[in-house]
Amino acid sequence: MRLTPEPALAERQSTYRRLAEELVAPLAAEHDRTERVDRVLFEKLAVEGCLAPLLPERYGGQALDPLAYGLLHEELGRACSATRSLLTVHDMVADTIRRWGSAGQREHWLPRLASGERLAAFALSEPGAGSDAAAVTATAEAVEGGWELTGTKKWISFGQLADLYLVFARTQRGVSALLVERDTPGLTVAPITGMLGTRGAMLAELCFEGCRLPAEALVGPEGRAHPYLTVSSLTLGRYSVAAGSIGIVQGCLEAAAAHAAERGVIAHQLVQRMLADMVVAARAGRLLTLRAGELIGAGSPDAPMAATEAKYFASVAAGNAARDAVQVLGALGCSAESPVARYFRDAKVMEVIEGSNEISQTTIGRFGHAGAGGGLR
Ligand SMILES: Cc1cc2nc3c(=O)[nH]c(=O)nc-3n(C[C@H](O)[C@H](O)[C@H](O)COP(=O)(O)OP(=O)(O)OC[C@H]3O[C@@H](n4cnc5c(N)ncnc54)[C@H](O)[C@@H]3O)c2cc1C
Repeated sequence: MRLTPEPALAERQSTYRRLAEELVAPLAAEHDRTERVDRVLFEKLAVEGCLAPLLPERYGGQALDPLAYGLLHEELGRACSATRSLLTVHDMVADTIRRWGSAGQREHWLPRLASGERLAAFALSEPGAGSDAAAVTATAEAVEGGWELTGTKKWISFGQLADLYLVFARTQRGVSALLVERDTPGLTVAPITGMLGTRGAMLAELCFEGCRLPAEALVGPEGRAHPYLTVSSLTLGRYSVAAGSIGIVQGCLEAAAAHAAERGVIAHQLVQRMLADMVVAARAGRLLTLRAGELIGAGSPDAPMAATEAKYFASVAAGNAARDAVQVLGALGCSAESPVARYFRDAKVMEVIEGSNEISQTTIGRFGHAGAGGGLR
């Protein structure tokens, strides 16, 4: 057992750092200001193998080790949370199709998602249903030849840009998941602007008015999408958000340490305290996140809880680090000249998405202690 990354994995993270620094970081402030990300960026990231990289090579993926995936998402999170969040939802849809889709769905969609020819979004939340996935009210009625989908989905990351949506809707047997293409008649996509953080994530409200879908649109068993598909997809989503949150902590640490040294305030012990908390949070959060990655890779039944624990810890750590980084940078930290103001706003979003921190706390509090009997277990 080793608790430091293998040299090859550390080298991989350096490669991801260079990639994120070159392609993504220079655009982050613009994404935040303009509230959009250009599709061209995702074409470039697809060429670099960053879209759905966990997929097997036969579908155009990289068969990437989940540990390396976590390090990629840490570096993307450090560079730009909005960009990282597109890859998160896109990969959640790809992973769901790989796990639960029919052979036809896998053959048709996975190569297109891996190549970036199609971008995907994950549509679970509704105006009246967020934390409680069982409360979705969108309906998909069985009709001759397929389904008729009616309802509204809200806060859908990259809903403005996606070509394909994985939509959770109520069918006769319970909550089901359906693939809906962007150009389906009856679908209206309304942009949501003015969000607090991850402002480039191009959120949308999706309104489905009697959308006719083929029978093959159904993914996985009818009526079982919650909890089967939601748990598997949200485990990956939480893992990505945990890693991205550690990227925020790391970015805050680097900005704060550099400024403190340059400004000469690093000599103050109260400033050292803030930097120390960031150092320790980055290391602790990374270890929890890597543990989740290892369990996801092993297909362990403990992976969902590990991802929830990592996401909870890392998102709180990101919020604390960003608040302290703004403090260390003073007025500069409150301005658009430094990335820490963006980190501050983005970090708050990490505490809400992919299961709010209260949902994480109640889940861990009710069930997590069963596996926390002590020692290394
Ligand atoms: C930037 C952004 C991007 C998003 N992207 C997507 C996306 O791509 N796809 C998608 O489907 N959704 C997306 N969402 C929606 C997100 O998943 C929800 O906001 C989240 O699940 C919380 O739901 P809610 O906002 O309805 O809050 P609610 O569920 O109404 O919760 C309100 C408050 O009550 C607390 N609460 C609720 N239930 C409980 C409970 N049982 N115990 C304790 N406390 C509780 C919550 O923690 C929260 O503090 C996004 C949201 C944001 C902000």
